[in-house]
Amino acid sequence: MKWENLGVEDPTLLEKASGFCEGYKSFLSNKTEREVVDHTVPLLRSRGYGEYVRGKEYGPGSRFYVNNRGKSLIMVTVGRRPVSEGLRIAASHIDSPRLDFKPNPLFEDTDLAFFKTHYYGGIKKYQWSTVPLSLHGVVILKDGSTTGVRIGEDPGDPVFVVTDLLPHLAREQMKKPASEVITGEQLNILIGCWPFPDEKVSQKVKLNVASLLFEKYGIREKDFQSAELCAVPAFAPRDLGFDRAMLGGYGQDDSVCAYASLMAELDADPEYTTVTVFADKEEVGSDGNTGMNSQTLKDFLTDLVSAYGCEIRHVLERSVCLSADVNAAYDPAYGENFERNNSSYLNRGAVVSKYTGAGGKYSTNDASAETMGLLRAILDEAGVTWQVGELGKVDNGGGGTIAMYMSAHNIDTVDIGVPVLSMHSPYEVVSKADVYMLYRAILAFFNSPRSK
Ligand code: MN
Ligand code: MN
Repeated sequence: MKWENLGVEDPTLLEKASGFCEGYKSFLSNKTEREVVDHTVPLLRSRGYGEYVRGKEYGPGSRFYVNNRGKSLIMVTVGRRPVSEGLRIAASHIDSPRLDFKPNPLFEDTDLAFFKTHYYGGIKKYQWSTVPLSLHGVVILKDGSTTGVRIGEDPGDPVFVVTDLLPHLAREQMKKPASEVITGEQLNILIGCWPFPDEKVSQKVKLNVASLLFEKYGIREKDFQSAELCAVPAFAPRDLGFDRAMLGGYGQDDSVCAYASLMAELDADPEYTTVTVFADKEEVGSDGNTGMNSQTLKDFLTDLVSAYGCEIRHVLERSVCLSADVNAAYDPAYGENFERNNSSYLNRGAVVSKYTGAGGKYSTNDASAETMGLLRAILDEAGVTWQVGELGKVDNGGGGTIAMYMSAHNIDTVDIGVPVLSMHSPYEVVSKADVYMLYRAILAFFNSPRSK
């Protein structure tokens, strides 16, 4: 099979893709699931989406959304065909690997103050030291009010860091396996070194930080116990490469698919009713009531279709879902981990993955030939360039997406996304043209009149 670089196929594509990715860059500056939801809801409202009203029978073209606890979102555009004929779902996730704070994070050691963290999702721990970090999240204060935290993103803000040992003294450290070079308990964020001006108190540096936190944000130490705070890389997303054909930034897994599906949702003129989902907790197994391994989506869809007198199980079996998540791009520096005929490549378009999982296809949805055939017909009809990709060589490791949780509801599901270099690192890389192709792929899926 011959694959072409998108730029060979259409030299004008980069300009279109770059324009599209300007919006993506500003979307990427939202670095947690809460920030993505906070950014998206006003955009939805400006585009005619209202908050979902249970029991209401919405007519074709109606648009509405459900905000699940400020951490996941469901967006709907009612299609021309009756809901009983099935839904067209695109589901991505808006959480990314990061360093969460422990409930008692603040401590002092040797005149330095730190926050203790508990990493979230699959990270190579050594990648998270000596990287400028910003702090994000919410704190529920004693009186029940909420304080938002976002420090380290504006040029005038301070940033924070996890330290590492200098190479001069690292002879023993460098002999350790990479998983132990920096341990989970060493992922402490440096936050201060200046003492509180009081002769009598001990732990002066910690106290000074605590007093600044109270002065500036009204946060007391006990308030960390009712908070969700995390540290993420402070870098802003930027063009990458002399040709500016790539984009580097934190959290592209899976904001890249979230943005492409959001734009497709907004631009859709759908035959079937579209459901665009932003899920939380994918990086830690989709558990909890904002993750896809919960009843939340199904409960909402049950309410939605019962307004039309439909049984949810009859609607779901006629529905199709694109599980929109990234795949691993072939990286020549690590070529031995990929099988060349079944890997995805940067700049060759949206990547469709029949299955993910690990070992002998464990823990995955394996899309049926019929579902692959339907998607193939839709994408080819719309002139979308796409490729297929497995997640690396058999038995080299593996990974999952929310596809298996969607298909568990009796929905025909298939994975689609873009290839990413350095996935789960503080600075992930994608091709702008791939991002644009993914948008076109999801839009084609939403607008297609093709039935199963
Ligand atoms: Mn993902
Ligand atoms: Mn991931």
